Amino acid sequence: MQLTSKKPPIIWLNLLVLGLPILIAFTVVPWYGFTYGYGLFEWLWFIILMTFCEMSITAGYHRLWSHKAYQAHPVLKVIFALGGACALQNHCIVWASDHRRHHLHVDDNEKDPYSVKLGFWYSHFGWMIREYESVKDDLTNVDDLFNEPVLVWQKTYYLPLTLLMNLGLPLLLGYINGDIWGALLLLGFLRLVLSQHFTYLINSAAHMWGSRQYDPNQTARDNSFIALLTYGEGYHNYHHAFAWDYRNGIKWYHYDPTKWFIKACSWVKLTSNLRACSSWRQELTRVEVQYQSALVNCEKVIDPAFLRNRLESEYQTLLQTLNHWADLKQQWYEKNSKNLQDKIHEIDAAHIQQSYNELKTRLRAQRKSWKALLQDFSNLADSSQPQAN
Ligand SMILES: [Zn+2]
Ligand SMILES: [Zn+2]
Repeated sequence: MQLTSKKPPIIWLNLLVLGLPILIAFTVVPWYGFTYGYGLFEWLWFIILMTFCEMSITAGYHRLWSHKAYQAHPVLKVIFALGGACALQNHCIVWASDHRRHHLHVDDNEKDPYSVKLGFWYSHFGWMIREYESVKDDLTNVDDLFNEPVLVWQKTYYLPLTLLMNLGLPLLLGYINGDIWGALLLLGFLRLVLSQHFTYLINSAAHMWGSRQYDPNQTARDNSFIALLTYGEGYHNYHHAFAWDYRNGIKWYHYDPTKWFIKACSWVKLTSNLRACSSWRQELTRVEVQYQSALVNCEKVIDPAFLRNRLESEYQTLLQTLNHWADLKQQWYEKNSKNLQDKIHEIDAAHIQQSYNELKTRLRAQRKSWKALLQDFSNLADSSQPQAN
């Protein structure tokens, strides 16, 4: 394992480029604030640039280019490429290559570039500042991205673009507002450091703290607090299970501004072909995970056979209802689809509606009973644990 043997050499350029802004953000930025103060203009632009950088990473680098969760208009792609350069997280072709390997080999210390199994620090920051084998560029998994003219342009002019976005833009805004140093410190340095580390939290904290409802066999977690800092990327267990979904927070109340942005852009044709997992498949996945976990709890009690039968019966009933519900939904969808109207014109819409409503009521009752059963299993498993003393 890499960290237990001799550590690979430090990449001094990365350490300088990533470390110096941190030093300035913690020293000069507050000193200038207390001595001269920052105005409303700087704070407004701070919020705008934070959003610009983070959304370019979440909506652009991540959901568009790494996972192909939707398609975007070239204008939007150029905006993402500029925002990505402003975020200073490498050009998108390398970023997406690392990220695709992270998904493919998650938690494999030899192949996952930012495996959390090597610790918080490594997955958050450390992986970028030494020449680790798992981080070495291997761009064979991003052939498709070399066909994206915007990304090839961004890769070719990455250095001037980063200088333009990180120094040129803050200096210009500072010149307009009459406070060059204030703008440079707040919009250049503090914005850069915060936007970078909020993104890094997805590789570290979102793989350590939170729930695992969709895939309990790997470290990614759903954590709504991290979603607040990362423009919606905190629902990371769901994301690892359904990486092709343009949403990370699937419920309407999940804080996922990236999802809302992509959806809003589709109304003005800036995005299209948004891919989303059906609610039926999401629920099926959750129920399967709950079932497997309850099976494990069964084994902890003295006579598991009776409980196992009860669990199996309830599980099969719920699956049947869920599948039936999905079929009816599909029929309802087809009935409403103009293209398919001829094919299904004989289907009685009122009948579908009635069956659907009945099934919805039954499903609600079964979900309740399933939840109660899981709670019973969890209580039984807890009470059968050996007590101290
Ligand atoms: Zn991850
Ligand atoms: Zn991803």
